Amino acid sequence: LAINLAPMTISGEEDPGLLLVLQDVSAIRRLESMRSEFVANVSHELKTPVAAVKGFAETLLAGAMNDPETARSFLTIIQDESDRLNRLIGDILELSKIESRRAPLQFSPIELPVFLSRMNEILTAEAAKKNIVLDVQAEEELFLEADEDRLGQIIMNLMQNGINYTPEGGKVKVRAEIVAAEDGEEERVRITVSDTGIGIPKKDIPRIFERFYRVDKARSRSSGGTGLGLSIVKHLAELHHGSIRVESTVGVGSKFILELPLLQP
Ligand code: ADP
Repeated sequence: LAINLAPMTISGEEDPGLLLVLQDVSAIRRLESMRSEFVANVSHELKTPVAAVKGFAETLLAGAMNDPETARSFLTIIQDESDRLNRLIGDILELSKIESRRAPLQFSPIELPVFLSRMNEILTAEAAKKNIVLDVQAEEELFLEADEDRLGQIIMNLMQNGINYTPEGGKVKVRAEIVAAEDGEEERVRITVSDTGIGIPKKDIPRIFERFYRVDKARSRSSGGTGLGLSIVKHLAELHHGSIRVESTVGVGSKFILELPLLQP
């Protein structure tokens, strides 16, 4: 609680009196501590790849360069870690742009069957590397009002996670359908992305949309994850006046359920 006391002057009054302001600042404090926690996390996340790049470069200069095979493997690590840094910086900038509302959404009608089959095409080669089948279907002539690039980011992130967290030979399924209006709710579009992957433990489910939260850090790293994908997805869903949730069973698979208004309010 912040308490401010100030003399009050009212013109024409003999006795000006005092103004007492009581302000509940717990929300502001909470925001401040979240912000400084984020900065600490960002620094930590950035330091890891930088340390790897520096370490391997130093080792190369100290002599490892003379053995071509070692040199090649160290340079590959340097390249991978630089890519990782790039992805991290990209995601951090993206998140900050979304959070500060500096990038207003550009809504336009999107034909979902066409749009989703494009997502399918983009990811087919990557899925094939793991022998994963992509199965994408939308109701015919289903149109939705959304920001096309942002919706693409949402769906790509969810499908990419599906591929990342599903073992060889699995399946990632995308479905789009209309949900009828009921008890005061608007008619909306539901897009589900489900996989036959490793699943998410119950205790982690409430936290996976948090920035940098990962169930298994090593696994996320090895699949090239930044830990920011789902928090970007959640923000973008909310900017579209929609929602995102997940149902998952360890060892069976996960299902991400995105719901968006058919027409933007
Ligand atoms: P990351 O870059 O680590 O994938 P995300 O924000 O996209 O970050 O996801 C956060 C965490 O949620 C992941 O590290 C992973 O533990 C879990 N996760 C996300 N999608 C899935 C999925 N389809 N199956 C299992 N776990 C998932």
